[in-house]
Amino acid sequence: MGLTKAQILQWLSNCAQYFNENKEYLTELDREIGDADHGLNMQRGFAGVMAKLPTVADKDIGSILKTTGMTLLSQVGGASGPLFGTFFIKGAQSVAGKESLSFREVFQMLKDGVDGIVTRGRAEIGDKTMCDVWIPTIASLEIAGCSDTSASLAQALTTAVQRAEECLAGTIPMKAKKGRASYLNERSIGHQDPGATSAVYILRALLDSVEK
Ligand code: ADP
Ligand code: MG
Ligand code: MG
Repeated sequence: MGLTKAQILQWLSNCAQYFNENKEYLTELDREIGDADHGLNMQRGFAGVMAKLPTVADKDIGSILKTTGMTLLSQVGGASGPLFGTFFIKGAQSVAGKESLSFREVFQMLKDGVDGIVTRGRAEIGDKTMCDVWIPTIASLEIAGCSDTSASLAQALTTAVQRAEECLAGTIPMKAKKGRASYLNERSIGHQDPGATSAVYILRALLDSVEK
């Protein structure tokens, strides 16, 4: 069992809803260790995606995800716009032309997207960025898909989201080594990373679309 195109569209609309509902919270997190714009950036980006989706909703999954990424790239700005934009643009490549995705194809899409973020941002585990959520979550999904071929996507994503939430809490004691928060050095310690929080919303939004 994997994902239909309708579920991909639902995923994106769930993302827009999470960023609408959590705009203030994300901006507060970014106020502590950044420039207090992350919530607004993400909310504006996914509002742009929602405005664009009707023009591509009848196209294949790859086109939908590529349009999502291009929209985020052009409308989010800052450090996170190019990174989340790259996630969807790179994720789109292996699913070009598809109308539905198997578990393996969903995994490949997410893995390619995260590889794109790492290549572009060059953050490592422990740098206090979104990569502290993305990298272990992809590893958790890979283990689920490889060790148990009958594992359902919903089960694997449930475990992955739990892992993502643990990793998000794990960013609190870290000292930032990438992005704007790194200018604060020791003073970045004790705060949750905003971009890592957004990565958790994107994963939760995906799980929500599977369960529906
Ligand atoms: P800006 O810092 O330009 O205002 P945002 O506030 O939208 O951009 O996004 C900040 C988030 O971007 C951080 O919380 C962090 O998760 C992420 N980030 C910054 N630099 C990097 C990087 N090099 N690699 C991965 N993520 C990064
Ligand atoms: Mg910011
Ligand atoms: Mg900014």
